[in-house]
Amino acid sequence: MTTTAGPYAGTTRLDARRRALELDDLADEPAVDLLVIGGGVTGAGAALDAAARGLRTVLVEARDLAFGTSRWSSKLVHGGLRYLASGRVGVARESAVERGVLMTRTAPHLVRPMPQLVPLINGLMRPGQASLVRAGFVAGDALRLSAGTPGALLPRVRRVDAGRARQLVPGVRTDGLSGGLVAHDGQLVDDARLVVALARTAAQYGATVLTRMRAEQVTGDSARLTDGLTGQSLTLTARAVVNAGGVWAGEVDPSIRLRPSRGTHLVVDAAALGHPSAALTVPVPGSTSRFVFALPQQLGRVAIGLTDEDAPGPIPDEPQPTDGEITFLLDTVNAALRTMLTRADVRGAYAGLRPLIDTGDGATADLSRRHAVLESPDGVITVVGGKLTTYRRMAQDAVDTAVRLRGLSARACWTSRLPLVGAPAHRDSRPVPADTPGSLLARHGGAAHEVLAAGDPTPIADGLDVTRAEIAYAVSHEGALDADDVLHRRTRIGLVAEDADRARSAVDKLVAATGR
Ligand SMILES: Cc1cc2nc3c(=O)[nH]c(=O)nc-3n(C[C@H](O)[C@H](O)[C@H](O)COP(=O)(O)OP(=O)(O)OC[C@H]3O[C@@H](n4cnc5c(N)ncnc54)[C@H](O)[C@@H]3O)c2cc1C
Repeated sequence: MTTTAGPYAGTTRLDARRRALELDDLADEPAVDLLVIGGGVTGAGAALDAAARGLRTVLVEARDLAFGTSRWSSKLVHGGLRYLASGRVGVARESAVERGVLMTRTAPHLVRPMPQLVPLINGLMRPGQASLVRAGFVAGDALRLSAGTPGALLPRVRRVDAGRARQLVPGVRTDGLSGGLVAHDGQLVDDARLVVALARTAAQYGATVLTRMRAEQVTGDSARLTDGLTGQSLTLTARAVVNAGGVWAGEVDPSIRLRPSRGTHLVVDAAALGHPSAALTVPVPGSTSRFVFALPQQLGRVAIGLTDEDAPGPIPDEPQPTDGEITFLLDTVNAALRTMLTRADVRGAYAGLRPLIDTGDGATADLSRRHAVLESPDGVITVVGGKLTTYRRMAQDAVDTAVRLRGLSARACWTSRLPLVGAPAHRDSRPVPADTPGSLLARHGGAAHEVLAAGDPTPIADGLDVTRAEIAYAVSHEGALDADDVLHRRTRIGLVAEDADRARSAVDKLVAATGR
């Protein structure tokens, strides 16, 4: 088997030239150990897991890395509190363990501890609900402890007075405010960046990562791959095939039955809530376990989510929020705000589909969020369900299954100790000058030095803290093939259409200049 060597051997760099060279390699010898279909967090995680075990691995993604659900999440790396509330201790503990792995070893540069404020406002919660919430947070602390995550990283729940509550979320309603409960969870700077970091680290371990490459006619040991750029096809044979197609998994393997559920977020300016430093957590009227969160984000924004709606029918490329969902989110969060948000405050809105396994009846919010690894009659191994936080465990289970069923020779999984590109312990990470902008560090961690070397550190457009260097780096190192990849998946400028319009012509020029 030939593999691309030269300038790419052992590097995390993904670019158009590497893609072309690796495609040539595959055309010469179209046989590998493992084919992974789908470049979301699950597929990128599986490709890393397999490549790091020494398996010759190819990851194909029909569109772009993180094109699907993995970029529409709440960006929480959560300790599984909501699963605890419904008695699913095993699922909750798995989340808490994986949160600890991400925050302490594999991607501490992408995940920050995020305070979460539940305001204690007269009439906002039902009688006794505040005690229930507190008991849940205490149980969450116990899980954190049992997962070995230090309290210094995720401090335990505490009660704060009204003044501190207002400091954390200046926009919180003050009439009837007696204080708040503050707990901590993990928050990703961006979900799509986690996917890109996984794919790049997989490439470092020898995985071939091909975007714009659709898999069709998928069987347990082969697939027809069609290049979306040239229209050319090749048949790849593999000793095992893993379907990580997310909500599209049933299109890849028709034996899979999913029941997608839509979750919507609104994007508003952080200024509209007084630039909060904590997530405002507001109970949904009539429910004891559902909350709407107003989550501080990069680029000076707050994301307000989330809904949980059955979404039957054909799977759209980009699901759209409904009018009813927007009203529900505004109404719920407004109950805890001093100045109510209106539709005019909504700068953007996005929706994603949860790939839930169809278990028959019942509302989607009640469906199990645990993942499943399933083998179809013709041998395709599908890994589906679960969540962003537990991608590593999902990947491990999928690759373990492939190794067992196909008798592959591979070392044991070691991804819980494997730092992703940009993590402090990653081989290529370097200290950066003290004056490096915090936003650059938050997105790139120890790889920020490479970004600074890639070009101009000035902003791509007025009022946006994304630098021209980051745009160039997205093309030269992060596998972005066009301006949409940059605007919507390497950066999240595209979450607000007006921002994307302002940045587009400069991004177009940089993409053309860097990709040459
Ligand atoms: C609104 C919402 C909020 C969420 N918030 C959180 C959260 O805060 N924390 C958390 O832990 N989890 C969260 N989740 C869950 C989490 O986002 C998902 O479980 C996870 O992103 C699913 O990733 P995936 O890789 O399985 O699927 P996807 O990200 O959808 O990836 C599947 C990929 O397969 C590709 N593909 C499909 N068919 C083919 C084909 N034939 N050939 C090649 N490629 C193909 C698609 O283009 C796509 O990129 C949330 C989910 C939703 C919907």
